[in-house]
Amino acid sequence: MILKKSWKFLVIFSFLLWNCRSSEEIECRRCNVVIVSVDTLAAKHMSQYGYFRDTSSVIDFFVKKSVIFERAFAPSPFTAPSHASLFTGVYPEIHGVRNITRYFRKQTVINGNLPTIAEILKDAGYTTVGFHGGGNVSGIFGFNRGFDFYLNKGQPSKRYDRWGYVKEALAWLNDAKEPFFLFFHTYGPHDPYLLPEDGLDIFWKDKNNFVVSWKEFRKLNSSIISFPEIRDRFWNQFNLSNELDVRRLISLYDALVRYTLEKIAPLLKEVIDKFPKTVVVFTSDHGEEFGEHGNFLHSQLYNETLHVPLFIYIPKVGTKKIPTNVSLIDVTPTLLDILGIDKKEIVFQGISLIPTIVSFSDSDRFILAESRSVSNYSASLIVGNWKFIGGLEKELYDLRNDFDENRNLCEVLSSKCNEMFENLNKQTAINNNFKKRVVNSNVLSR
Ligand SMILES: [Zn+2]
Repeated sequence: MILKKSWKFLVIFSFLLWNCRSSEEIECRRCNVVIVSVDTLAAKHMSQYGYFRDTSSVIDFFVKKSVIFERAFAPSPFTAPSHASLFTGVYPEIHGVRNITRYFRKQTVINGNLPTIAEILKDAGYTTVGFHGGGNVSGIFGFNRGFDFYLNKGQPSKRYDRWGYVKEALAWLNDAKEPFFLFFHTYGPHDPYLLPEDGLDIFWKDKNNFVVSWKEFRKLNSSIISFPEIRDRFWNQFNLSNELDVRRLISLYDALVRYTLEKIAPLLKEVIDKFPKTVVVFTSDHGEEFGEHGNFLHSQLYNETLHVPLFIYIPKVGTKKIPTNVSLIDVTPTLLDILGIDKKEIVFQGISLIPTIVSFSDSDRFILAESRSVSNYSASLIVGNWKFIGGLEKELYDLRNDFDENRNLCEVLSSKCNEMFENLNKQTAINNNFKKRVVNSNVLSR
């Protein structure tokens, strides 16, 4: 009983201590900034978000010192638009970036009137470097703007090493000139879910005939084939209407998540051990679908795709769980606020999360996401515990009781459904007005 009381007291005391923290305490002027983006990393597949497999405890040493956002959402299920939102603090409709796919070959670039985080920090005297996996985060989209060095890798090829750039980033850190901004991105868990070696397939015990490693895959496919062909050959092995095959795919994805995080952990460790004045953001651009709502890969707006990890390590701040809904568009304004960089001339759609970190505010904000492909457009809006998806049909979900979005409530709660539909239309109108302002004015004098 006494123990129980002490424990309760400790919790209340810690809570009070936390709430004593002010914005000033969180501020970290001239601190280095590191953004780590692990492509295609669904929050629901991570141990820190309650997953049943140990996929991510290897980065616990970092997470346990970070602010943990329990409900962070990507603004798009696609790589290029989501990263552009991360870099600019605005929604995809505003920055205008879309993925290049085999169906959509048109090149889009981040709107020239929008400053990126790299440009802002370069302007503030930072050394800026980017190590990334190419493809839809290549410099051609404007992601290289403001970087002193931005690794120039194209689409993955036969010799592409999706985990290889940790070594390069660590080597760069050896002689890093502070303050610096380091962007690190990897396609580690992205499909095809091929592990480097068969022995790393740790979450599946039974033997079977699937090719699950790059080593084996290359042995069987000696001629140079394109990335889309590699993907097709990988996926053709699986019958997606067979539950066992789907479970097998998930186990491969989970093993890839773990392998990727094991690769990245030394980078996180190096940064927080050797550079005490560094703010580190760990996140992903979107998650992954495994048939939960019919599809695979990532294109829909359900939480398996939009719910992403977000951990922000801020020196001397420690850990705290934030239950508030936040978006990747909040990352850049938050970083600038932490660094004390005042850029009033820049208008973001995202907000600084410092007040949220201090006092759990802003729970009723509109959190938008959109999915745009050649033939389809759909958008979703989260307000508090309600989520609305407006695509071919209207969908309403109660995230408090149904975070996995299994029960569409639009029929039983039609007035709430209509209210959310109107809210989505309001947000679309806000976007249109914001877009006009961005197109008509150069918000950063460069
Ligand atoms: Zn991606």
